[in-house]
Amino acid sequence: MENITVKVNGVEISVPKGSTVLEAAHAAGFEIPTLCYMKEINEIGACRICVTEVNEGRGFRLVAGCVYPCSNNMEILTNSPKVIESRKRTLELILSTHDRKCLSCVRSGNCELQKLCKDYGIEDGSVYDGVNNQYEIDDSAAHMYRDNNKCILCRRCVAVCGKTQGIGVIGANERGFKTYIGSAFDMGLGETSCVSCGQCIAVCPVGAISEKDYIKDVLAAIADPEKTVLVQTAPAVRAGLGEAFGLPIGTDVEGKMVAALRRLGFDKVFDTDFAADLTIMEEANEFIERVQNGGVLPMITSCSPGWVKFCEHYFPDMLPHLSTCKSPQQMFGATAKTYWAEKMGIDPKNIVMVSIMPCTAKKFEIGRPDQSAAGVPDVDYSLTTRELGRMIERAGINFNALPDEKFDDPLGISTGAGVIFGATGGVMEAALRTAVHTLTGETVTDLPEVRGTSGIKEATYKVGDLDVKVCVASGLSNAREVLEKVQRGEADYQFIEIMACPGGCVNGGGQPQVPMGIRNFVDIREERAKVLYNLDKSMPLRQSHNNPAIKEVYDTFFEKPGSHKAHEVLHTSYVKRSVN
Ligand code: SF4
Ligand code: SF4
Ligand code: SF4
Repeated sequence: MENITVKVNGVEISVPKGSTVLEAAHAAGFEIPTLCYMKEINEIGACRICVTEVNEGRGFRLVAGCVYPCSNNMEILTNSPKVIESRKRTLELILSTHDRKCLSCVRSGNCELQKLCKDYGIEDGSVYDGVNNQYEIDDSAAHMYRDNNKCILCRRCVAVCGKTQGIGVIGANERGFKTYIGSAFDMGLGETSCVSCGQCIAVCPVGAISEKDYIKDVLAAIADPEKTVLVQTAPAVRAGLGEAFGLPIGTDVEGKMVAALRRLGFDKVFDTDFAADLTIMEEANEFIERVQNGGVLPMITSCSPGWVKFCEHYFPDMLPHLSTCKSPQQMFGATAKTYWAEKMGIDPKNIVMVSIMPCTAKKFEIGRPDQSAAGVPDVDYSLTTRELGRMIERAGINFNALPDEKFDDPLGISTGAGVIFGATGGVMEAALRTAVHTLTGETVTDLPEVRGTSGIKEATYKVGDLDVKVCVASGLSNAREVLEKVQRGEADYQFIEIMACPGGCVNGGGQPQVPMGIRNFVDIREERAKVLYNLDKSMPLRQSHNNPAIKEVYDTFFEKPGSHKAHEVLHTSYVKRSVN
């Protein structure tokens, strides 16, 4: 690639031709602040916080550094008095229509706007105070709040919903001073075909959109002596939670997370990875049955509730392709309130099942029909990784000083196959490890073809006499591409894994928000996924069918994968929904 030379604040460097001013500054060791910019997703140069002085031989002038391309011998000033003055004015203008209630804001301490105001010494936004628009909070969706009084109109949410997820249920309504982010015809988000993925929340720089918070309800349950409060944690949580406590992206905090949950007062700390192993037993069995008995193929995984809702709204005719397996979260709750409750002699009505998930769509999933195996909801509260972080912080637990502790038995026993569920391709790899063993008796471990962060991956595996062609997609615009290919008859896959979030659950909409200034340069999906693959490698058991707790649950309760009882407790059904 051809390189050009630029000078950033007097530092001469060589950068690839086509680099933006922002990229050149980063390469030279200087960060330019941004609010609207998301690499390849929202390159609109609208917020003007990134203004930078450049000189291309005709004197210095201000440009939007995030989108302005470098030219050879360009001089760049990222921090001149003119630049600082311009950024301050922009911040004051943004604050003039902002409610500035930092004390009670969910993002306080982790807000990109608040940080910039601090960095630029903006103490009061009253310079341009005037009449402001007042907006009602939209709480119509199961998973999130929208508070336009805090929105800075950066449009990151609009871009991620429309481009990355291919959904587009939010956009800019009205024009000029009256512009606000909303849905068509002013519908509440809950009335639209939003799939609850929370990717918009993950990228919002401020507290304008946030998950519905159930911390108070969980603390009340813990304080109730009549209740046995169980908690399960999804694989990806251990790869993201450390970020809420300042640890580097990609830090494994499994042991500290377990210790923190115990100190919060949960009666048992269990692992969703156990249920991921259970899911594999059921799903691999379902796949083999479909292949051997002429069932609907390709079979598509069903553990991502954002993806399931997407299929119900946008591809209802393809619902017979979905595996009937409940997600690991729901299988866990269903097993805890049937098998474990019976074993312990506890009335399931007195069990409160809390899940900690990297996902906001799980909040929608717990209220779905056909998710109450014991006659009560399989899961009572689903909290995000972020909510758990806040709970730990508010309880005064010094997270980073905690010792490593182990999950409780038996629903805390899992294999490497369970832990990789949190990364795109992980479910496929785990399912193939067990399906191959069931059909041929062979032991399979690493399947690198389905790993990595590409949005769509394909591979063909020889399983006995069969050639099994598989596809793995993450991010819903990629899912759409794959499904349309299947519908057109251009794909001969037998098995497809789909995750709603790009990169899988490690990048779920409930994971700690990483400032875009970091996300634009670090692939958080890759860093977090490494945690899970390293854990898998380090585990003595790496195939779900080898999990002793899984063997016991089948021997003493479910009999065998796909049994009548397994179907009653572990499988579910879907509904056709409209597009709004
Ligand atoms: S969004 Fe940021 S600046 Fe606005 S109230 Fe919340 S913390 Fe304060
Ligand atoms: S939750 Fe997902 S589908 Fe819903 S508005 Fe946000 S990005 Fe769009
Ligand atoms: S809701 Fe958040 S991400 Fe969306 S435009 Fe407003 S500030 Fe930006």
